[in-house]
Amino acid sequence: MLRFIFCLLLTTSAYANDTTARSFESFLADIRAQATSQGISNTTLDQAFHGLTPNPKVIKFDRSQAEFSQNFWRYLSSRVSPYRLKNGKKLLQEHQNTFQHNYQKYGVPPHIIVAFWGLETNYGNNTGDLNLVQSLATLSFDERRSAFFTKQLLTLLKLIDDNKIPVNAQGSWAGAMGNVQFMPTNVAAYGVDADGDGKIDLWDNKADIFASAANFLQEIGWHRGERWGREVAIPQNFDYQLANLSTKKTVNEWQALGVRTATNEDLPNSTMNASLILPMGYNGPAFLAYRNFHAILRWNHSILYALSVGHLSDRLAGTRKLFAEPIAEPSLSRDDIKFIQTSLNQLGFDTGEPDGISGPKTRNATRQYQHANNLPIDGYVGYQLLQQLQAP
Ligand code: CA
Repeated sequence: MLRFIFCLLLTTSAYANDTTARSFESFLADIRAQATSQGISNTTLDQAFHGLTPNPKVIKFDRSQAEFSQNFWRYLSSRVSPYRLKNGKKLLQEHQNTFQHNYQKYGVPPHIIVAFWGLETNYGNNTGDLNLVQSLATLSFDERRSAFFTKQLLTLLKLIDDNKIPVNAQGSWAGAMGNVQFMPTNVAAYGVDADGDGKIDLWDNKADIFASAANFLQEIGWHRGERWGREVAIPQNFDYQLANLSTKKTVNEWQALGVRTATNEDLPNSTMNASLILPMGYNGPAFLAYRNFHAILRWNHSILYALSVGHLSDRLAGTRKLFAEPIAEPSLSRDDIKFIQTSLNQLGFDTGEPDGISGPKTRNATRQYQHANNLPIDGYVGYQLLQQLQAP
């Protein structure tokens, strides 16, 4: 989680010069003073800071950017893989008692927890092997998002001081830990010691892992007894501008607009609010997203991630693959997206400073361009749009 915001904030190298060693020492002295004022013991700080140096690998990971932004089908098929389905079903079975207990307490269904678990770390197989104190100290020392990571570092030190997490705990380069990749502030706020041994063991204790994930989801808005969303079918000549996370209508209102289930049956009679999502434009699959979808987005602010969690959880619960036919469409590179942004800007549709990442501003500019050119107004930044803008 939180990877999304990291990749949006990139500048140039903050250190790696001759003064590194000395200034890192004075940085640690400053952190030590802050930690001490928060009541963290010297014993913990001595242990945590013993022989500590910045980890250049962490900065390298932090600076690297994905060259391609995967389209929906590519993203989904790599996340909802046969491996994840097979192992997820096996683990649901294996831990069914723990899951059942967890479900009664927090109201988050087992297959939802397992979907997050699978996407975050392949069910605990990839929890990260970098020293957490070192990673967070490196990112806190680095000037770009120092405030955010200093808070994470101090929170981690407090968790270590309280004996909730071991001093040598390992995690991702960004400081996320355990089977469901919690940042320290999430461990502190939502971590659950479900088996009552005093530790929040997000690495090896399944009860702690499942309870922490469920508690977090419940706190960020998961509602018991409701689904995340569903695949739907939309009629021809639909007003695609309604396909927008911020446009919310009741299921009954969507029904009145011609939206049906993926098998073209009536939607259930319901006044629950939902948004319509077209992750690959008007030609691709369509989904209604309910309020539990927004809870998933609060875990990771990526629509493709949230749809993958939802779909993987459905598959784990036994439903079939999507009804929509996969579209073989090339993914766009960062340069492709920059070209789209530059072209739209030149045509007078403001995407902001071209950055190779298609966010809300780029989607809005795309809608304006589509409107001006009598194209379906779905705001989809995809291969078709690239071709339209490349045409002489
Ligand atoms: Ca525990």
